[in-house]
Amino acid sequence: IRIYVPADSAAIALGADEVAEAILAQAQQRGIEIDLIRNGSRGMFWLEPLVEVETAADTTTGRIAYGPVQVEDVSALFDADFLHGGAHALSLGLTEAIPYLQKQERVCFARMGVIDPLSLSDYEAHQGFAGLRRCLSMSPTEIVQEVLDSGLRGRGGAAFPTGIKWKTVAAAQAPQKYIVCNADEGDSGTYSDRMTMEGDPYMLIEGMTIAAIATGATQGYIYIRSEYPRAIEVMQAAIANATKAGYLGDSIAGSSYSFHLQVRKAAGSYVCGEETAMLESIEGKRGVVRAKPPIPVMQGLFGAPTVINNVISFASVPRILERGAAYYKNLGLGRSTGTLPIQLTGNIRYGGLIEKAFGVTLRELLFDFGGGSASGRPIKAVQVGGPLGTYVPEQYWDLPFDYEAYTAVGATLGHGGIVVHDDTADLSKLARYAMEFCAIESCGKCTPCRIGSTRGVEVIERLVQADTDSALKPAQEKLLRDLCHTMQYGSLCALGGMTPNPVISALNYYPQDFGLAAANPA
Ligand code: SF4
Repeated sequence: IRIYVPADSAAIALGADEVAEAILAQAQQRGIEIDLIRNGSRGMFWLEPLVEVETAADTTTGRIAYGPVQVEDVSALFDADFLHGGAHALSLGLTEAIPYLQKQERVCFARMGVIDPLSLSDYEAHQGFAGLRRCLSMSPTEIVQEVLDSGLRGRGGAAFPTGIKWKTVAAAQAPQKYIVCNADEGDSGTYSDRMTMEGDPYMLIEGMTIAAIATGATQGYIYIRSEYPRAIEVMQAAIANATKAGYLGDSIAGSSYSFHLQVRKAAGSYVCGEETAMLESIEGKRGVVRAKPPIPVMQGLFGAPTVINNVISFASVPRILERGAAYYKNLGLGRSTGTLPIQLTGNIRYGGLIEKAFGVTLRELLFDFGGGSASGRPIKAVQVGGPLGTYVPEQYWDLPFDYEAYTAVGATLGHGGIVVHDDTADLSKLARYAMEFCAIESCGKCTPCRIGSTRGVEVIERLVQADTDSALKPAQEKLLRDLCHTMQYGSLCALGGMTPNPVISALNYYPQDFGLAAANPA
């Protein structure tokens, strides 16, 4: 009998380690032999710790889930014979039949929670390294073309076509090229990178290795935020295992390609998620944004041509190579091809990871998946795309999740993070917080961001405090809009350039929170 208890950081925070220990102790006490596996999370956090049971008979029908399991439930679960599907109040039936999971299109996250993250044989048994193996029978040009044809765009937020980056680095003539994975995942409400690294680390290694073969790079780095100690630990162990098994190192799977991979621990700076600041940080310098050009694909890490992609971008590649570009391209909508792992957080009843093809609407995510607000109150504002994302009002909740559709209304999908607020939220406070966040995290290189963000906090405070009918009110609103315009167009990178998104959307869609009768965008 196999029992699965997640070792994902979120599950551990909710008591998974203690539950795993209690299960082992109970089994020993009762003389029952079990095989306890610490898997990744299925991403249904309100059910964590989610315990799954698989008997020999269940391998064809599926695992039975129980959750959320607390230490004090363990003895009763054994009494109810949960190891053989016995009835218990915490029983959720077949894991795969839970509607939250069933309604998803899991491409990247297909193995998440299914396999033992560090077991190479488990990974291989679930189509692991199938993409890499196919690559070894293709030319680098064909691999790049396959990624181009899939339409994959960067999942870190910028949505730049991944294949174009690869093509540029492949064409560059240089003695050394690099592959860098941006795993700094600093956006509020996001965790898909962390879950990938903790729950399916070989998928990231495979994607980066394919990128190396396609572009001629021989060295790679995974830049992981220091707030992710478990992801760092799992990735390091996975790199060691993959190297030992010949999937990394001097002769990848017996081929003439070589690729070496290392983890670099970040130091906790939001701006180091900006690709050039990240390169500075990997080089051992202070994380300050570089002016472009030169762009990293031409002169990146240590001045060499460098592919930089986010965790989910790399993690999408093995499936594309395994099943072909057409399979991936047929998922999604228009130029937004494939799937996006969406992270539902904040004031929401059923928060978690939802992988869907582009085209799902925010309303479906909030209500069909999320079940409405956790407080039971009406949802007022939804920030999509991290701390620099727009507050999306209800009038746009039926738009398809699609890069173009969101850009058309001044919003962004970013890294797929969604933070929900109910009607008690004060959007003027959230706008002030956006400016304060920018002031704290600014690298200080350019004036609109470094000084503008501090002035922004002050102007918002004056705007909110001004009497409703005083002349100061419209004057401060105008000043705030002018300042946002300067930050948007005068900042060197997205931190200063996108901080106006939450501020202006709060002002436009929720003017009453600033004490304004109506927004005055002119
Ligand atoms: Fe640095 Fe801000 Fe300028 Fe970006 S916008 S380069 S974070 S000062």
